[in-house]
Amino acid sequence: MNQVFLEEKRNVIGRLRMEALELTTELSRASLNLDACEGSDPCDRSASESAVTETIAKRKQRWGRLAKLANLLPLLEEWDGRCDSCGDFDVSLKRVESSLSLTCVTCKTEEERIERMQGGKHA
Ligand SMILES: [Zn+2]
Repeated sequence: MNQVFLEEKRNVIGRLRMEALELTTELSRASLNLDACEGSDPCDRSASESAVTETIAKRKQRWGRLAKLANLLPLLEEWDGRCDSCGDFDVSLKRVESSLSLTCVTCKTEEERIERMQGGKHA
């Protein structure tokens, strides 16, 4: 572990923390908006229903990302740059920031292949 890596890692952690915070704020605000619409006459029923469905889908996505962030951040504090799965130093911080995982491309591809095989019966 060198100084540059540690510094970059600090930056990434800072940005991801900020994102988690923003997501939390956004999600708590979103739930207020949703409640405000329920049972009030000015909301067109079908329009508001599809809006609600859309909001819920979006929120699910955000919750997913927030959950990943919450998992990742404590791990990232101790992380030395190694793949979580195979232990190779083959994971860039850029990759961690975009994929929110500590696995290298090779392991991730393998994981997805297995997932696809397991989920094959639904396809
Ligand atoms: Zn790996």
